Amino acid sequence: MSEFDDLLAGNAKYAAGFTGSDLTGRAARGLAVVTCMDSRIDPLGLLGLVPGDAKILRNAGARVTDDVLRTLVLAVLLLGVERVLVMPHTDCGMSKVSDNDVHALAQQQGVDTRSLEFHTVPDQQAALRHDLTRIRTTPFFPHPHPLPVGGAIYDVHTGELLPVEL
Ligand SMILES: [Zn+2]
Repeated sequence: MSEFDDLLAGNAKYAAGFTGSDLTGRAARGLAVVTCMDSRIDPLGLLGLVPGDAKILRNAGARVTDDVLRTLVLAVLLLGVERVLVMPHTDCGMSKVSDNDVHALAQQQGVDTRSLEFHTVPDQQAALRHDLTRIRTTPFFPHPHPLPVGGAIYDVHTGELLPVEL
């Protein structure tokens, strides 16, 4: 018995019904999506995509961190990505706390997190515009540059995608 038995059982069913795949690791629709780790988001489903179509990058708050940039550069150079959608969402936990709030919470539990930047989101629209600019101005994409970079907010209550910059 392990904490992961349910997942092994789920995979056994999945693999039994798996009909094989000739997909490659390239993004068939030339798309990368940066979104939040929020468990209500089904990035492929909400965009009308299927496995194989897009690279999905997720973290807390859908922030364009150094590691997201690194991954996007690799996705463009190696994996067929030609456009990027940054997609935060409504009711995001990252927009309800500040970094200092999280540090204080950790401190109450005897942990010092001050060496971590949590990239919390006090102003979601401002953070999204900042992150779009960060991708657009990175010098590491090959020409022709800029590649299309869009931003939209996913409404977790209606399923709608609300364009910010598309
Ligand atoms: Zn979120």
